[in-house]
Amino acid sequence: MSNPEQELIQTYFAPLAGDGAAGLMDDAATWVPAPGMDTVLSTDTLVAGVHFIGDEPADLIARKALRVNFSDLVAKGAAPCGYLVNLGLTTAQDHGWLKQFSEGLARDQEEFNCKLLGGDTVSTPGPLTLSITAIGEVPSGKVVRRGTARAGDVLYVTGTIGDSALGLEVLKGRCKSVDDAYLIDRYRLPRPRTECLPLIREFASAAMDVSDGLIGDLEQLCLASGVGARVNADLVPVSEVVGSLAALDPGVLIRALTGGDDYEILFSVSYKKADAFEAACTLDVHNIGELVDGTGVAVSTTAGEAIEFPSTSWSHFD
Ligand SMILES: [Mg+2]
Repeated sequence: MSNPEQELIQTYFAPLAGDGAAGLMDDAATWVPAPGMDTVLSTDTLVAGVHFIGDEPADLIARKALRVNFSDLVAKGAAPCGYLVNLGLTTAQDHGWLKQFSEGLARDQEEFNCKLLGGDTVSTPGPLTLSITAIGEVPSGKVVRRGTARAGDVLYVTGTIGDSALGLEVLKGRCKSVDDAYLIDRYRLPRPRTECLPLIREFASAAMDVSDGLIGDLEQLCLASGVGARVNADLVPVSEVVGSLAALDPGVLIRALTGGDDYEILFSVSYKKADAFEAACTLDVHNIGELVDGTGVAVSTTAGEAIEFPSTSWSHFD
């Protein structure tokens, strides 16, 4: 006899299950990496009211949860392959919500070529909580760490920075832009930079994804590597929308550089390889500065004016 939890799993999640998941009818799954590949694991928890607002469409909540994990894998040079999902559901998540949630997972399984391997569901008085453990693969020995940058390395970041943080401001009614829909989309649906995997594997001396704010995350990379950094704020890529907001209010740039939720890749390349990297790179990647001897992150403009930050990243513990 099946119980309500098993019914829910069989209805919404079993159709997403991959090889090794035993149709989600067993206690555990197996994972066998492809020959010559190492398995890379990453996990992230999203709490309604903290990491997302909570009233987003369920498919977008599912896709964001998957994508923030895939972004961590990509920063390690690993391609996403599979995942486990744990759900803490409140009474507000009815069958319609679960159907939409599983459709979001299905859509991104297709886009990122990966399968569900297992998970768990529990009831909670709230808030809605979801935790994903993502499984990726990287050629053996080629995982890219945060702690392996050297002084003299050139610093790069993918895409544009600040869209998502400003998107959240728009959703909270604290900001109005020329293209609110673009900013909100960037907040709700991160784009893991899987197209950058070959370049990260070949050229990056260290890498991480930007989740808590560019400058604060760079501080973490510097700390792990035992180096300092110099960043030219004028070189940090921003979208036209954020650029037009920043032209009106200098506080917007501070928010962009420290706001987080970008899910772009921040990485360093040895100065000896930087020319070859830039020649090989046809993607949206920007040089923003360099790593130096010492500690800490110094940010200034091209004109040499120092920029100070009240706080360099978003934190649960402030
Ligand atoms: Mg990360």
